[in-house]
Amino acid sequence: CGIVGYLGTRDGLDVVLSGLRRLEYRGYDSAGIAMPHDGQIAWRKRAGKIANLADAIEQDPLPQGAVAIGHTRWATHGAPTDANSHPHVAQRVAIVHNGIIENHDALRAELNGVEFSSETDSEVAAHLLNKEVDGGASLVDAIRTVAAKLEGAFTLVAVDAQDPDRIVAARRNSPLVVGKGDGEYFLASDVAAFIAHTREAVELGQDQIVEITPDGVNVTTFDGGPAETKDFHVDWDLEA
Ligand code: GLU
Repeated sequence: CGIVGYLGTRDGLDVVLSGLRRLEYRGYDSAGIAMPHDGQIAWRKRAGKIANLADAIEQDPLPQGAVAIGHTRWATHGAPTDANSHPHVAQRVAIVHNGIIENHDALRAELNGVEFSSETDSEVAAHLLNKEVDGGASLVDAIRTVAAKLEGAFTLVAVDAQDPDRIVAARRNSPLVVGKGDGEYFLASDVAAFIAHTREAVELGQDQIVEITPDGVNVTTFDGGPAETKDFHVDWDLEA
């Protein structure tokens, strides 16, 4: 349903939680957040309102960090439970996903031996990515390989605890925009998530991959070639 990512200099948790709240109007049944921290993924997720997630974080605080990804879920595969909420974590990798992975059963079968902790279509993407990076692929190459295997509509966003200054995302038939601030970057399913921080945005096209690091934003096609993107300025305001 809703996606927010942040890479910059501020508290990633704050930026992502407030971004998720900006997307509440779309409706959702669960929410969660993940951050690379100290070689591991730190994450919290809860069924219900973002307030439930915020309570869980208050009880059991997340570390400070300037890279974070968050999700509000509208369940398609698996009931709205804590376990089925996103992020989905597979060892060093965390993902959030919007849309539907149609061939998730076949991909699960391919991952034979891997233990799953949810009933979602999404979780296969976390395990497939983890397998790629664990085998030595860069995170962007890994998401390229995985995106090519997925059938259906998706926006898939990932972080790797062992490569913490990077967020990658792949998009097919599901919205994704990048916000460019001053030394900080945002990723979202809707500009509403970040216009409190920046109005300079890049709209991704179909079948594109974006890689965000402190050095900037790099967009490529699924094949690895240069991608055509559209820069735009958001000149409207949110209603109070
Ligand atoms: N299909 C995924 C799930 O059920 C993602 C749903 C969404 O777009 O929020 O978990």
